[in-house]
Amino acid sequence: MTTPEVRWTGPIIDAHAHPRGLHVTDDPGRPFVDEFVARARRLGVEKMSSLGEVLFRASGYSETEIRMLNDRNAELASWHPDFFVPFCFLDPMLGADFVKDEVRRCHEVHGFRAIKLEIACNVSNPATHAVFEAAEANDFPVMVHASRTDIIGNRDHQSDPADVRTALSAHSGARIIMAHLTGAGRRGVWDVRDLPNVAVDTSGMQPDSGIIEYAVEHLGVDRVVFGSDAYYRDLAVQIGQVLGADLSDAEKHAVFYDNTARILGLA
Ligand SMILES: [Zn+2]
Repeated sequence: MTTPEVRWTGPIIDAHAHPRGLHVTDDPGRPFVDEFVARARRLGVEKMSSLGEVLFRASGYSETEIRMLNDRNAELASWHPDFFVPFCFLDPMLGADFVKDEVRRCHEVHGFRAIKLEIACNVSNPATHAVFEAAEANDFPVMVHASRTDIIGNRDHQSDPADVRTALSAHSGARIIMAHLTGAGRRGVWDVRDLPNVAVDTSGMQPDSGIIEYAVEHLGVDRVVFGSDAYYRDLAVQIGQVLGADLSDAEKHAVFYDNTARILGLA
């Protein structure tokens, strides 16, 4: 095992962040966001996804609430349009007509680039068919919150990596970023190992020594993307997890930048 070089001067795209919080009620306000962006830039982050306030409630959203949350995410992105890449947040249980209209609205009106699913329902629920159809129609990847449900339970709403696999069986062309590598664990990596359209992001829980190397070994380096889950997880610590991994500089560059640029279509 080589001694990692704990320094990085290359560019970073953060594929998983909640710059305005998760709940609306904990919105830190624009001055915090401005400082957060400045600090991220000092750490080398050039672009950052904005996944929205996706735990405004756990499930059972109204159409009005989903539109409000996506509008707030668009407002955030407008504050730093060259930095934030907003994702369209959805509750699949609202039905196919609303899902397809809201994805089209977020794409055409707000310039969103991707979809985020949280815990409104399990990703293998047939209600998500409309989500994947809308993703295909707008050429969006779908980020799916996932974690080992034998640890966290509530599988009606929480998605296990095995459920990502099930969802893909009906939508083999869908492009998925499976969130939370450290929540999915080694078994979660194994569950999606032969699904080339599934990438995993490095966020979730505390850094876990060896897990990024395991994902790169079994998925290939092109299917691992850096994600921080900031501001809930410390951005510098999450960057450090990749810096400290036993990967080559070319592999770190792929994880930090190239893979997310490709998946999100960022020039
Ligand atoms: Zn998150």
